[in-house]
Amino acid sequence: MNMNAENISTLKATLRGELIQPGDEHYDAARQVYNGMIDRHPALIVRCTDVADVIAAVNFSREQGLLVSIRGGGHNAGGLGVCDDGLVIDLSLLRYVHVDPISRTVLVGGGCTWGDVDHATHAFSLAVPSGIISSTGVGGLTLGGGIGYLTRKYGLSIDNLLAADIVLADGRSVTADESRNADLFWALRGGGGNFGVVTSFLFQAHPIHTLYAGPMLWEMEQAPEMMRWYQEYIKKAPDDMNGFFAFLIVPPGPPFPERLHNKNMCGIVWGYTGPMELAEAAFKPIREKFPPALDFVGPIPHPALQSMFDPLYAPGLQWYWKADFVNELSDEAIERYIQHGSQLPTTQSTMHLYPVNGAAHRVGKHDTAWSYRDATWAEVIVGVDPDPANKDRIVTWARQYWEEVHPYSAGGAYVNFMMEEEGETRVKASYRDNYERLAAIKGKYDPTNFFRVNQNIKPAL
Ligand SMILES: Cc1cc2nc3c(=O)[nH]c(=O)nc-3n(C[C@H](O)[C@H](O)[C@H](O)COP(=O)(O)OP(=O)(O)OC[C@H]3O[C@@H](n4cnc5c(N)ncnc54)[C@H](O)[C@@H]3O)c2cc1C
Repeated sequence: MNMNAENISTLKATLRGELIQPGDEHYDAARQVYNGMIDRHPALIVRCTDVADVIAAVNFSREQGLLVSIRGGGHNAGGLGVCDDGLVIDLSLLRYVHVDPISRTVLVGGGCTWGDVDHATHAFSLAVPSGIISSTGVGGLTLGGGIGYLTRKYGLSIDNLLAADIVLADGRSVTADESRNADLFWALRGGGGNFGVVTSFLFQAHPIHTLYAGPMLWEMEQAPEMMRWYQEYIKKAPDDMNGFFAFLIVPPGPPFPERLHNKNMCGIVWGYTGPMELAEAAFKPIREKFPPALDFVGPIPHPALQSMFDPLYAPGLQWYWKADFVNELSDEAIERYIQHGSQLPTTQSTMHLYPVNGAAHRVGKHDTAWSYRDATWAEVIVGVDPDPANKDRIVTWARQYWEEVHPYSAGGAYVNFMMEEEGETRVKASYRDNYERLAAIKGKYDPTNFFRVNQNIKPAL
């Protein structure tokens, strides 16, 4: 069968959703993803409205020998939601969230963003552990692991995944959970989009309404002392206390005070989930020991916290990042971190250390595909700028930073913080001794590596 006009019109007739081709009015908008650096030209984009559309798109691509990519929220910095010359399975219309307040479970359509989920769960004073930007897709973030404000309290997103419905490479739709296709369920929790198209996720939600949260910033001169203190603190902190460390440049506008505009600073973005009446007391020693130059920490509803940084990181920016897992910050490492953290190339460029301890440590490293259950942080060095002319600057800075701090890392990196170019060695380093089992499961469910636009796990046959 060749991909001629007749085959395409047969596919079109099969779909409830939209089929978008080069030349169509919406083609250029539909092929765009979050990272403005990505400029790929797929042959077809299928906007699926239901599982039947996903099955039709998978079967069509397989029969036509087309490369396939899966687009959830389109946030992947490597642009893995879109491909050149192939078919994009676009899930952006597969957006529903059903909350069961009795079991505190949440059924989420495969194309939802976290903003969709937060909106729906907040009405029931519930939340599912996710990330820190509300426009990020549930699909990609969850399948890679899912690190955010609730990680130390309730674990990674995958630690709260109860089941997933997934369309496999052969076009079958199956459910994966602890009792059905348990091997697949294990692999989905960290293995990324390697195994098929997840059309719905079932999550365990938790009682979260308002956190005591937000950023505290300090002068760069205090960075060595802050980093040393932060390391000791976050390793022993109660699960209710989350805080990621950052180097950043203060945006030149409200709500930031003018005296700090464009200033390179260090900071911690806190997220405290304990009883609100104890929050002030929990932060008092920190505020007394290190009076912050800026203190925006206070009560904030969960969806507001989740979208706090959305305006700063709108879609379409040039985006390049490098990452590692980190166990320890030696004085020597701290020196390197600060050296490069003091030379952020653009206002939106940053470096974050996200804690992945607390509840995330209490899941065994072989219990899910996500191996780094002993790491203290997932670190990410992020070069960002609106101007494509600054692409080389942000890429060079991020690479140099990473080269210098990588020797102090735990080895691998969080797959969701990687570009497309990282390659097999890096992917293997991220899964460590879970890789072999992942490759065997890939061999069982996707022996031809049909789903390969991802941080790819090669099928073991
Ligand atoms: C601004 C920004 C903030 C971020 N913040 C965080 C954070 O706080 N915490 C965190 O953990 N990560 C964070 N990330 C990283 C994020 O988890 C990854 O970029 C992730 O890939 C995004 O998922 P997506 O669905 O939006 O991506 P897409 O680009 O749509 O897809 C990326 C990959 O995920 C797979 N995929 C997506 N949906 C599905 C599905 N339904 N079924 C099967 N495969 C699917 C695809 O195979 C594809 O390879 C952030 C990224 C950005 C750009």
